[in-house]
Amino acid sequence: MWARFFSAHGEFCASHPWEVIVATLTLTACMLTLDQQNPPPPPKPFRICAGCINEVDYNAADVIVMTIIRCLAVLYCYYQFCKLQKLGSKYILGIAGLFTVFSSFIFTSTVLNILRINVVDLKDALFFFLLLIDLSKAAMLAQFAMNASDQNEVKINIAKGMALLGPTITLDTLVETLVIGVGTLSGVHRLELLSCFACLSVLVNYMVFMTFYPACLSLILELSRYTAMYGRKPCIISKAFREEDHKSNPVVQRVKLIMSAGLMLVHAHSRWPFREEDIDDIGTLVVEQRMTLNRTEENAIHGYIMKWLTLSADHIVILILLLALVIKFIFFENKEDLTEKIQASMSENLKNSDNADFVKLDQALKTKYLQQTPVFKHSETFFLGRRYSDDKSSDSSSELEFEDKSVQTIYCQLDVEKVTESFEEDSICRTLDECLAIYSDSDLGAVTLTDEEVMLLVKHKHLPGHQIEKAVDNPERGVKIRRKMLAKEAKLVAPLTDLPYKDYDYSKVMGACCENVIGYIPVPVGYAGPLLLDNREFYVPMATTEGCLVASTNRGCRALRSSGVISSIVGDGMTRGPVVRFPSLTRASAALKWIEKPENFALMKEQFDSSSRFARLTKILNKIVGRYLFIRFVAKTGDAMGMNMLSKGTEISLKFVQNEFPDMEIVSLSGNFCTDKKPAAINWIEGRGKSVVCEAIVPSKIVTSVLKTTVNALVEVNYTKNMIGSALAGSIGGFNAQAANIITAVFIATGQDPAQNISSSNCMTLMEPTGATGEDLYISCTMPSMEIGTVGGGTILPPQAACLEMLGVKGANTENPGENASQLARIVCGLVLAGELSLMAALAAGHLVRSHLRHNRSTTLLAENTNFESMKNENYLKPPPCRDY
Ligand code: NAP
Repeated sequence: MWARFFSAHGEFCASHPWEVIVATLTLTACMLTLDQQNPPPPPKPFRICAGCINEVDYNAADVIVMTIIRCLAVLYCYYQFCKLQKLGSKYILGIAGLFTVFSSFIFTSTVLNILRINVVDLKDALFFFLLLIDLSKAAMLAQFAMNASDQNEVKINIAKGMALLGPTITLDTLVETLVIGVGTLSGVHRLELLSCFACLSVLVNYMVFMTFYPACLSLILELSRYTAMYGRKPCIISKAFREEDHKSNPVVQRVKLIMSAGLMLVHAHSRWPFREEDIDDIGTLVVEQRMTLNRTEENAIHGYIMKWLTLSADHIVILILLLALVIKFIFFENKEDLTEKIQASMSENLKNSDNADFVKLDQALKTKYLQQTPVFKHSETFFLGRRYSDDKSSDSSSELEFEDKSVQTIYCQLDVEKVTESFEEDSICRTLDECLAIYSDSDLGAVTLTDEEVMLLVKHKHLPGHQIEKAVDNPERGVKIRRKMLAKEAKLVAPLTDLPYKDYDYSKVMGACCENVIGYIPVPVGYAGPLLLDNREFYVPMATTEGCLVASTNRGCRALRSSGVISSIVGDGMTRGPVVRFPSLTRASAALKWIEKPENFALMKEQFDSSSRFARLTKILNKIVGRYLFIRFVAKTGDAMGMNMLSKGTEISLKFVQNEFPDMEIVSLSGNFCTDKKPAAINWIEGRGKSVVCEAIVPSKIVTSVLKTTVNALVEVNYTKNMIGSALAGSIGGFNAQAANIITAVFIATGQDPAQNISSSNCMTLMEPTGATGEDLYISCTMPSMEIGTVGGGTILPPQAACLEMLGVKGANTENPGENASQLARIVCGLVLAGELSLMAALAAGHLVRSHLRHNRSTTLLAENTNFESMKNENYLKPPPCRDY
């Protein structure tokens, strides 16, 4: 109940900030001006006297004690700010804390003004006041608010924060007031005054926290909506801040309640009925108070100013302490903290690198550059940090936080990167010459430079950008540095925040699969199956972001489960088609005739085959265009897709032809007669890579029970769509429904070259009624140009290799080279058949739109853009026929 009350209250303050602020300020102003409009009320019957703490009363001991208390208060305050910094933002939370202190102090002063207590007394009381303030609650509420990404969320979060903190703070205030209130019964004059002031402060602070503070917080965040104050970095804050960590402990709450009850009894007993001496004292107080009020105004102002301005020795001590702490907090605190983080990160990196390298490096550093610059001191600590990493349990919390953030798919990790980056940008770099000297030193090298320094070398072209990984001898660090450079150069607003790069085996990528690496794209992988193919079952991985695709293919596999699919490889030959030029058509024709002679082909084949253990030239196709000759080399390539192998063999072979025809000029090793990664009829007609065909007979009962349609409907749709429609569209190889969908998904999952989906997707899907009565369905898929392999390219990357492993075709087939690639081609073609069957059935039954709406759209979009009611009426969102995938 309490939580709900505080939540509603918090939401009100956050939703009506202006009203709350204006009301609070008006109230304060009224209280401040009360004495100007009305005759001064009689002084309060406190057992204290305004102005009774007087400099004159101070003896030496007093001064020392007060100085110590003041210093303690300042140190405590500093500690509180450091705590705030650890919670998250250094300045925002600091400002929140300062704001609370300041506003509480102002409001307390106002209350004191009402009570006619001499303001000069606040000079000493302020330090006690500082000791009483607990900034962490204000910071927590600020954190709650800053965790929001828009203004509405700010309100909700403030309400949540209030619900969580309100009851605890209320109870704390009650307990604090009662405990401190005991001081007002002590009989010690000064203590009573200060306790009274403290009680007031606690109460006023509570009021400020409950009204003024949330309103201001909401307002400030609204005003700064378009700045980076909140919303952009929810992560750092939320990381350190979890609601459950701040829920109050019920046992402690109960103890506090019991304590409050006891203390209330003490107060009741001591204060009521008033003792006689109290009343006497009150009389004395009244007299003293009146005497004070009789002072002339001029003297009072003069006295106040002098008291505030006169700097005694204790004031100077406190001032120096304060200044020192402020300087330390602003200029050094953050860096130390970050240095720890960086050390943790770097030591983690080093853990991954070779230990011998580390020892070598450490020694070299010690002897050569240890004392050189502040930046190197970081490096030094980091190396020592690595050595003592096992002993670092004392700082386990920060280490843990860092470890968490280093996990690749956790959104937060990149915020840490940003922090680290900003630190390194600000850090002092060694000069270019010094960096060069270290880079050229065989004992040290770029590995000992900071990221910023490596970037300096790249910037000045002393280190090629694509070789950073090699230079720093750590691929992941290299990638990290490149990301930083890119973010700077391209002035990226959100520097690749959501592109992961950690925990990836870059060693297999470098020099083989990708250059200028800045991370990797995780793509969801599903599976379809089992696919019964040639009497074996396969579970086929598919990497896709198209909802419904895996489900639909899976349904096709299910429909084929009883009959199975039969496959056949009908052709195998990767191609490369260079273009060469001759001085004349005559010379080109002569060359053509020379190549076509079987004995010359054998010589060319000999040259070609010498380039590889597996590439075997099988055919050459020539075409003359004017004086140009296009030569299409066709070769078997074992388990590799074979494009590189073909290029290599073709080059050697052409050089051999050039010996016969010295006037032959090789215009391009690839003359697009291959044809690679472009739609071309030649691949459809002649074939390229594996030419594979699959067929299946689906019993009519499966067509109706699983595919929810009829054989006739399927045959009709296939004829109309895949034959007439595609012919009408002038299609080349596109006589199918969705071969490219399945091809691309399996290609991405198994590390094929995804761009080769173009020719690989060439497919003709046939459907006919079959069986004695023509009730069953005959279906076949003919795919003449599937460019596929299980060796080379992306197949070497561990996740892709794992998917090949799933199909039992990983790597090279040592017994029968080429068999793995052929088997993969059969599987893919079989899966295409399953996909065709399912999609065609959905189209025949009119289910396509329904199932896509259900499976292929984010619910958010659906909710935003569609009228649910009308869809319900039209049965749009009924489960699709493929609900039992
Ligand atoms: P590759 O990795 O360049 O060559 C295959 C390697 O695997 C060869 O060194 C081969 O040995 C060896 N190998 C071992 N066992 C084998 C086996 N059982 N069967 C076949 N080879 C075996 O692969 P690739 O298929 O020729 O080329 C694929 C790459 O080329 C992909 O990255 C693709 O993206 C890219 N590509 C290149 C071009 C281009 O124009 N160059 C065009 C498109 C794509 P040997 O050394 O004895 O042959």
